[in-house]
Amino acid sequence: MPMTVPTLDTWLTWSLTELQLGHFLDTDPWGRPLERYSKGRKGQICGDYKGILVVHKGDEKYMQKVYRLSHGAVSKHVCMLCEASSEVDSPYLYTFHGMSACHRSTRLSTSEFIEKVVGLQTFVRLPGFHVDFIQHDWLHVVDLSLIPECSASALVELVRESVWGGEGTHVDQRLRLGYVAFIKACKADKVKSRGEAVVLAKWLAKVCLDVAIRNPDDEHAQLRASVFVNLVAMRRAMSAPNNDHVKLHPANLVALQKANYLFHCAHNWLATEAIKDDKLLWKTRPKYHKLDHIAYDHAPQHNPLHLACYVEEDGVGQVKRLAAKSHPKRLGEQVLARYAAYICCRWLRQLTE
Ligand SMILES: [Zn+2]
Repeated sequence: MPMTVPTLDTWLTWSLTELQLGHFLDTDPWGRPLERYSKGRKGQICGDYKGILVVHKGDEKYMQKVYRLSHGAVSKHVCMLCEASSEVDSPYLYTFHGMSACHRSTRLSTSEFIEKVVGLQTFVRLPGFHVDFIQHDWLHVVDLSLIPECSASALVELVRESVWGGEGTHVDQRLRLGYVAFIKACKADKVKSRGEAVVLAKWLAKVCLDVAIRNPDDEHAQLRASVFVNLVAMRRAMSAPNNDHVKLHPANLVALQKANYLFHCAHNWLATEAIKDDKLLWKTRPKYHKLDHIAYDHAPQHNPLHLACYVEEDGVGQVKRLAAKSHPKRLGEQVLARYAAYICCRWLRQLTE
């Protein structure tokens, strides 16, 4: 099994090379003649169209597996795109943020990335490969990590402060009342997908702002509200209707980068305070540093929301559900056949509508 992923990726890279050329290749990835080519699988793939790889992204585990990176969340070098470090006395400490942070000057070139960081050279052999292809994903960084972690810390504090329920009520009861308030707010705003992280962030921004307004001298409450207000502001900048299909409107790019900066400022302040007070809240980890790369390096190229892995994750979920219903002996075949049937039904329905 250890060669399964590299073999699959070798075929994938070879297929991407075919797409970039626009016509079928006569040999396999190892230079052996292809039987299918001699049997007629030759010529142009899709007329004059070609497919060019521009972005390669996924969750941390996937990227580690595909490139076998020496830089990772638990190593000294925590970032695959720069020299950000986990050592507290390093000038490149990953918690430094913003355009003037020292590690911004250590962004890796393509050759440095290949020489220093990559352990498995499959994708980097693709003609035209560039380190800018490697991008962090909004869904995995923000929706699945930063928002849930910040929300957990905020909810613990809001429950302790008796924002829901009175002083005498049990903590569980207060949390339950908080949940009721959340559902009520979602119904009032006609929100259909309550499970989305951004919905929780928007609601917590309102709740934390109310608390901050009631306590104008409470610095902690102000900065806690700032964390969520800026998380929501980043999302708003990317969802604004005046953005182009691919790129953000220049004003929205500035808004995204400002909100990202303020988010880090507020979160770092809360994390520092939590360490000082010996509280296990507002944890900071290398994932927060990835948001800086999204805001300053990826967002000027394209809207991070448009290329986020939402559809791909849904697709994986569909395949997983189909696999759970298939017989283990012919799992691969059955899953592919059922997925093809599922797609055909959708296409047919669209054609008849
Ligand atoms: Zn970095």
